[in-house]
Amino acid sequence: MSELTTARRIVVKVGSALLVGADGAPNAAWLAAFCQDLARLRARGQQVLVVSSGAVALGRRRLAFSKRALTLPEKQAAAAAGQSALMRAWEAALEPHGLAAAQVLLTRDDTETRRRWLNARATVDTLLALGVVPVVNENDTVVTEEIRYGDNDRLAARVAQMIGADALVLLSDIDGLYTADPRKDPGARHIPRVAQLTPEIEAMAGGANSGAGVGTGGMATKIMAARIAQHAGCATIISIGARPEPLAAVEAGELATVIEAGQSARAAYKAWIGGSLAPHGGLTVDAGAARALATGKSLLAAGVRAVDGRFGKGDAVVVRDEQGREIGRGLARYDSADAEKIRGLKSDAIEAVLGFTEGPLIHADDLALGPVHQAS
Ligand code: GLU
Repeated sequence: MSELTTARRIVVKVGSALLVGADGAPNAAWLAAFCQDLARLRARGQQVLVVSSGAVALGRRRLAFSKRALTLPEKQAAAAAGQSALMRAWEAALEPHGLAAAQVLLTRDDTETRRRWLNARATVDTLLALGVVPVVNENDTVVTEEIRYGDNDRLAARVAQMIGADALVLLSDIDGLYTADPRKDPGARHIPRVAQLTPEIEAMAGGANSGAGVGTGGMATKIMAARIAQHAGCATIISIGARPEPLAAVEAGELATVIEAGQSARAAYKAWIGGSLAPHGGLTVDAGAARALATGKSLLAAGVRAVDGRFGKGDAVVVRDEQGREIGRGLARYDSADAEKIRGLKSDAIEAVLGFTEGPLIHADDLALGPVHQAS
C-alpha cells in the first residue's frame, strides 16, 4: 500500500490488548516481532513514532490490583507504576535492532497550547532526526478526567498532526471498516479505501462496528482520529495488530482500510497557520526580507523594521511589507518584547542581547505566504 511505503513519517498506535498478555505481563513475543517490522521501516529511511498504551494494564499487575474497577487515583498510580514497565518492554524489544527508545508523555495541553506544542514538536523532531523511536503515551498520572484525551487513538492523531506525519497506523482487532459488523452480518462488506469521511461512513463506524477494537477506543474513535489526521494531511490506515509483523502484512496486501489524506501535511499546516489562527501582532519587514520570504526563506531579525502588538512565543503574527501590505502569516519564535530588542540585528548578535537564540524570527516551515488562506 503506497501510503505506508512512501510515508516519510509514520505514527503507529499500539493498544493495550496487543502489548499486555492475559497474565498482565508485557507480550514480549509480539513486541519483538513488531520491532522487527519497525526496524525494517527505519532501514528504508522512514521515521517512526509509536503511541503506546499499556501503562494502566501493566501497573495493575505491578501494584497487585485485582480485576475490580479502579478509582481515579488508583488508575493514575497504576499508570505511574506501569509506564516504566512499558518502557522497559519497548527498550528490550528495540535494542536488538540497534534502536533506542525515548519516552514522551503528553497531556492534551501539550498538543493544544501552541507554545507547548512547538516545544513538544521540536523535541520529537530532534529525536526522530537522531534515529530514536519516540514512544508516546498520555501522561495519565497527572491529567484529570476533564482534560484527558482518554483514548490513544485521538492522542495518536494529534501527535501525527503535530509532527506533520504522512501516515497514521491504528492497529486494531479488526482489519478495517465494514458496512456492518462482519461477526454478525455475513453480508458485511469491507471498505478498503475512504476518500471522504461522509456521514454514511461515520454512521457505519458508530453503529454495529462501534464496539470493535479493544481498549478504550472502538471504531468510532478511530474514525474521529482519522478525521483529525485527514485535516492535517495525514492518511490513516486501520488494520489488525495481532500478527507478528502487522505493517509488513498490510504492505503484502492483507485487508486494511485507508482513509486518504486529502492534501499534504505541509499544505494543511500552512493553511492552518494562514487561516485558522487569530494573529496577535505584526512584523514589518524591509524589501530584502520580503524578497527572501517570497523564495521560501525564513524571516531573520535583520530584516525586521517594526514590531507591533503584544505576542508570545509561538503566537501567529502578520508579516507586512513597508507599504503595509500583508505578505503572510507565521508563528513567531520570540515574544514581542524580545522581537523588539533584536529587530535589525544579525542572527549571530542575538545571543549577546537576549542570552539565548531561537534562530530566525519566523522559520520558513511556520510561515504561510499570501494574504488569503483557507481555514481547515
Ligand atoms: N494511556 C492509557 C494507558 O497507557 C491507554 C489509553 C488507551 O488505550 O486508549 O494505559
